[in-house]
Amino acid sequence: MEIRIGHLYPDLLNLYGDRGNIQCMVKRCQWRGIEASVTEYQLEDPIDFSGLDIILLGGGSDREQAIVCEKLKTIREDFKAYVEDMGVVLAVCGGYQLLGHYYDTDQGRIEGLSLADLYTEQGSPRLISNIIIENEDFEMPFVGFENHGGRTYTGDLKPLGKVLFGCGNNGKDKKEGILYRNIVGTYLHGPLLPKNPHLCDYLLKNALMRKYGQAELSPLEDREEKEANLYIRKRFLERQ
Ligand code: GLN
Repeated sequence: MEIRIGHLYPDLLNLYGDRGNIQCMVKRCQWRGIEASVTEYQLEDPIDFSGLDIILLGGGSDREQAIVCEKLKTIREDFKAYVEDMGVVLAVCGGYQLLGHYYDTDQGRIEGLSLADLYTEQGSPRLISNIIIENEDFEMPFVGFENHGGRTYTGDLKPLGKVLFGCGNNGKDKKEGILYRNIVGTYLHGPLLPKNPHLCDYLLKNALMRKYGQAELSPLEDREEKEANLYIRKRFLERQ
């Protein structure tokens, strides 16, 4: 078995080292004897979506997002077909915003891919916080860090989780991120997957299921990750 990961525009969308999420996916495959390869795409590179099982779109500044947005127009149809065919996508922060219809900023509108029915408006102050979110379909909450000026509105889309601590999509509706087809969109960046191995395995399982029709992932120990998760929950939730 092999998982092929595509990292879109790492030179522009790599705030807070989103690249580490790729290393996490690769490692968790290798520990289980699953091959994993990574292809990085720069703006000028053509993308054959049929050769990919997981796509990572990372975070970026507004300026970098505006540059990427121009390119996205040219790949939109292929990207949409990939998403509708249940291709796995992890889109973080700026990348998450770009999945929607638009991101309105003081400098003007950044058009998105319209792959998911959401939109973003810049607001003040920036939403900067540690964050904990809960989704009862997963064995433990997701923990992370957020830093965004944009407020994202996701309508009826299923959230990645309910906000227990922090701001989430817009600081108001207690929703964080989205789950749509096999897309995970979220504002949790930095070491999202190393901190949340259950989310990493969710992505890997979806990719294997789509490709091979089965997804047996042997369990990994994850003792330290679970302890760290618990520590964060205690630290932030018990003092509320
Ligand atoms: N530039 C976007 C915002 O501030 C996304 C930031 C990010 O990716 N951290 O909302």
